[in-house]
Amino acid sequence: MSSRPIPAPRHAAASPGRRLFLKAAGTTALAGAVGTLPYTGSTAHALTETSTDVVVIGAGYAGGTAARELAARGLRVTVLEARNRIGGRIWTDTMSGARIELGGGWLSPDHQLVAQEMQRYGLTNVGDVVPTQSLMPASNGFQALSPTDANAQLGGLFEQFYDGSQQYFAHPYDPLYRADLLQQQDQLSFTDRIAQLSMSSLDKQWLAGYFTAYTGNENNARAMTSMAQWWALGGWTMEGWEKQTAFKPAGGMTELLQKMLATPGINLQLSSPVSAVSSTSTGVQVRLTSGQVVKARTVVVATPVNVWKTIQFSPGLPAAHTAATTEGVGVSLATKLWIHLSGDVDAVYAQGTENSALPLMIPQQQLPGGGRLMIGFAGSSLNVTDKAAVQAAVRTYIPGATIVTYRAQQWGADRWSRGGWGLRRPTQLLRQLPALQQPYGRVLFAGADIASGWNGAFIEGAVETGLRAAQQAVALV
Ligand SMILES: Cc1cc2nc3c(=O)[nH]c(=O)nc-3n(C[C@H](O)[C@H](O)[C@H](O)COP(=O)(O)OP(=O)(O)OC[C@H]3O[C@@H](n4cnc5c(N)ncnc54)[C@H](O)[C@@H]3O)c2cc1C
Repeated sequence: MSSRPIPAPRHAAASPGRRLFLKAAGTTALAGAVGTLPYTGSTAHALTETSTDVVVIGAGYAGGTAARELAARGLRVTVLEARNRIGGRIWTDTMSGARIELGGGWLSPDHQLVAQEMQRYGLTNVGDVVPTQSLMPASNGFQALSPTDANAQLGGLFEQFYDGSQQYFAHPYDPLYRADLLQQQDQLSFTDRIAQLSMSSLDKQWLAGYFTAYTGNENNARAMTSMAQWWALGGWTMEGWEKQTAFKPAGGMTELLQKMLATPGINLQLSSPVSAVSSTSTGVQVRLTSGQVVKARTVVVATPVNVWKTIQFSPGLPAAHTAATTEGVGVSLATKLWIHLSGDVDAVYAQGTENSALPLMIPQQQLPGGGRLMIGFAGSSLNVTDKAAVQAAVRTYIPGATIVTYRAQQWGADRWSRGGWGLRRPTQLLRQLPALQQPYGRVLFAGADIASGWNGAFIEGAVETGLRAAQQAVALV
């Protein structure tokens, strides 16, 4: 395994004038979309059976990267996407006249593959809103600190929590480089690791409250090595950690993916859920829920790990894949809120405790029409469909705050994700990761959940795996 991300192969940039082949599902639309491809089936199936070089299942960043790479090499690529939009766990939308990101929203300058892609298409980043105040747990309620002081204190706690990661993740892009040192460490949940530390109960509350927003209230069921790897990838410093949310793409998180999927040779079909994949030594057949079949030389499964179990694979998935999709990698309670508060509201950053209804709140911009946007991550006790409950949760941090409107995206309840960002469970790294990255005959896998580097919660990891899957596919066509 390489200790660095796989470099992107050279290829021609997308021609900006080309239109995407955005096709709705349905036999007529599909027949139109692939009418120029050689047909290998019988006349009776003329409208429902087509062929191409490579099928990519899923139009998120992993699928988009794989498709772009393969199309740029002159291969015919059909991308089958279940939703009526691209992006998957990236979802750029609007609320109160402002652009919002219901899925991933930030980039780090350490995300080198994404930076390379942004540069390729001439896209730029902007900085995020800088908080003026940090509210952190106190022995009795909350204490207001300057963001600098809060981060310095939190950074000191992280250094204790992640102590040893310089050794067990000595090569952060190659997480199993010191697999020997991970045998014990990878068994630990966040709760287990906090219990090992000698610090005050308030310090432990700070850590548990911070991590619960990432684990979706599952501090006791997610591997501390997942985030320890991110800490290592950021250079083992608080400064590196903070960089994870340093930037936003100026044109929104979906724009780069749109550019990738506009590459000539990609046939993108939206509203096309895949129900079955069967493979032989010579090719694959991909069946849509509509009954349509697309034949290809190979297939890249670029759906979330949590979704693999909903697709019928023949022959059945290997043991590691079956275990991963049964256990799940995507965080079940990954509910992101965008909240429009009325009036003149300070740019307050707030972190709660493990039991908070809203364990994390991050300030966004003051709106020209009045009020401020806030991002929130819900705890398990919050009923996000109840506006009064959401407002009460915000008021634990900002007394008197009034919600104008809000949106809540519950990724765990989304049938095409069945979870949010990926965060491995104890022992999944050692038991599963290497196997999940391997081709299974002509069936290949991609997705941020199975990245070597910035795994789970970063489009950087999705791009890494899309590049890998494309290389694997080239060897099979
Ligand atoms: C709330 C939230 C916040 C996040 N914050 C950040 C952040 O700040 N920065 C960052 O970089 N990343 C962030 N992430 C993580 C990031 O969004 C993901 O890691 C990344 O988008 C995953 O890309 P992917 O291509 O692997 O999977 P996905 O984006 O999930 O794409 C998979 C695609 O497969 C499709 N699909 C599923 N089943 C089928 C089927 N049967 N047939 C056809 N298509 C199917 C899905 O519809 C989807 O489009 C966040 C994620 C969430 C949920």
